[in-house]
Amino acid sequence: MTPTPTGAVTATRVLVLNSGSSSLKYQLLDMDDSSRLAVGLVERIGEETSRVVHTPLAGGGAARRERTGPIADHGAALKAVAEELAQDGLGVDSPELAAIGHRVVHGGLRFTAPTVVTDEVLAEIERLVPVAPLHNPANITGIRTAQAVRPDLPQVAVFDTAFHTTMPEYAARYAIDVETADAHRIRRYGFHGTSHAYVSRRTAELLGRAPEDVNVIVLHLGNGASASAVAGGRCVDTSMGLTPLEGLVMGTRSGDIDPAVTFHLKRVAGMSEDDVDVLLNKKSGLVGLCGDNDMREIRRRIDEGDEQARLAFEIYIHRLKKYIGAYYAVLGRVDAVVFTAGVGENAAPVREAAIAGLEELGLVVDAELNAVRSDEPRIVSPDYARVAVAVVPTDEELEIAQQTFALVTGAPAEG
Ligand code: ADP
Repeated sequence: MTPTPTGAVTATRVLVLNSGSSSLKYQLLDMDDSSRLAVGLVERIGEETSRVVHTPLAGGGAARRERTGPIADHGAALKAVAEELAQDGLGVDSPELAAIGHRVVHGGLRFTAPTVVTDEVLAEIERLVPVAPLHNPANITGIRTAQAVRPDLPQVAVFDTAFHTTMPEYAARYAIDVETADAHRIRRYGFHGTSHAYVSRRTAELLGRAPEDVNVIVLHLGNGASASAVAGGRCVDTSMGLTPLEGLVMGTRSGDIDPAVTFHLKRVAGMSEDDVDVLLNKKSGLVGLCGDNDMREIRRRIDEGDEQARLAFEIYIHRLKKYIGAYYAVLGRVDAVVFTAGVGENAAPVREAAIAGLEELGLVVDAELNAVRSDEPRIVSPDYARVAVAVVPTDEELEIAQQTFALVTGAPAEG
């Protein structure tokens, strides 16, 4: 909070909401110093065993609170969040709240930047549901719910696809019939854009250079995973496509496959469209290959000599290497390869294996630096390496809050 010369209060808080189909993640930040005042999550919305986990962080932070009990819908979930925040004196009715920032997964071609939500904007997000059937409906519900609670506040949509809208046409288009593609808005949109934007900018900072001067390959390796090639701060290619299914091997998604596999499954294995959808999105990737999608468990199994886990790991690494090579060629000159998200930030063996053998490209990992555990952005390549290998923890909520605050106050987004 910043008191103005007249003693009035300037609103500096931003509530960030990330609504999933049965969950609501939230963070309250103070943009005066980008500090987090509270974080939490409502999960299993619509079930008997819904759970609210709330962690107050302001003023040293009180103990984490948790409660279980039925929460019928997103409206009830946000009410529960508001109650938790009120208990800490951080109520959503506070005049210090400047805006609510929403993660919206699919913004199509129209939304290239954070956008204040209007009825027309909501209608456009709705129009994109066919290309993001799992995500956009939940995001819309989250926005409507927040509007009902604070109709006077700006609601800002921050799109996962926005950062990738700078991709040149030759990277964004699939090589299919143009009329069919355009009629159904089939093209590569890319996702995790908020993370790729934040991490590529932080990497430039870590290198002590301006974002415009550096070329970076970002590897966002969480349960979902994507790579991007960022040239001078602008995305020029990314591995996810029309949907988040394309690209890297993920926790439960296959990533790249021959599309004819889907015809084959239907014609020969007698599977329905939905069966194939579930197979490729939920039962493939690491979980399909070895039964586990948690990299910690996979590494433990490999250490015990489990061959199935080893093969899954090798397939995962092989795909990652192919993308590093591809994006190296796309960029021509690379200043850093950066790892982020759950696997990228924590799994040293993944970083080591993905970079192994790429010395000719100027890429080397220093075993000691790579083994260090830290929450800070850091370089894990030796000084002599031509290209830096870095680990930069992602922070999508901070990026959403900064973009939201910048939009509603007219200030430039901070780096
Ligand atoms: P998402 O946001 O996509 O759900 P995260 O970025 O939180 O995912 O990443 C979750 C994944 O990170 C887990 O499934 C696990 O594979 C991996 N992970 C988390 N911690 C570790 C760790 N200490 N070592 C290895 N992998 C880890």
